Amino acid sequence: NSGAPDAKNLRVKLVLLGDSGVGKSCIVLRFVRGQFDPTSKVTVGASFLSQTIALQDSTTVKFEIWDTAGQERYAALAPLYYRGAGVAVIVYDITSPESFTKAQYWVKELQKHGSPDIVMALVGNKADLQEKREVPVQDGKDYAEKNGMFFIETSAKTADNINQLFEVSLLKLPSDFH
Ligand code: GDP
Ligand code: MG
Repeated sequence: NSGAPDAKNLRVKLVLLGDSGVGKSCIVLRFVRGQFDPTSKVTVGASFLSQTIALQDSTTVKFEIWDTAGQERYAALAPLYYRGAGVAVIVYDITSPESFTKAQYWVKELQKHGSPDIVMALVGNKADLQEKREVPVQDGKDYAEKNGMFFIETSAKTADNINQLFEVSLLKLPSDFH
């Protein structure tokens, strides 16, 4: 009941980082629209989407989701992009060791230039492609743990762990976020 006196409407900026092709746009579309489009080639359109979720205590949280529209190559633009973000979701593809290396680059970048209290999530996407896996689950877990991030494997294709990714991100935010 959003009219309750203790109801709060919170907003959180969430940015996605990671190599082109790891599934960032598909993760966003799965979360926001509940869809997966296997024909999408490099990226799927909008670079800004929002999704509001209701919490049990009548609080609503509006995620303002910033997805790169293919500018992953322009590292110099990144600080503009993640400025003011409460959550940074760093995505790799479990079938691509190169994308895991690139994810580590983004983590270091955020540690150097990002806000110190930004919540960082490390996401191994395309978890449905188990037979093509080249990045062991444990490697993702270990790296995340060492760097104070939380770790989750997702599939935008099957929807596995997509809602959990956003829910856990919220739980990790400092209690005074706005
Ligand atoms: P982006 O460049 O990081 O935004 O990647 P996209 O979201 O455009 O996805 C790149 C390609 O990976 C597309 O062909 C998607 O269909 C495919 N893809 C994305 N997520 C998944 C997934 O979870 N499983 C599988 N099998 N394919 C995926
Ligand atoms: Mg994209």
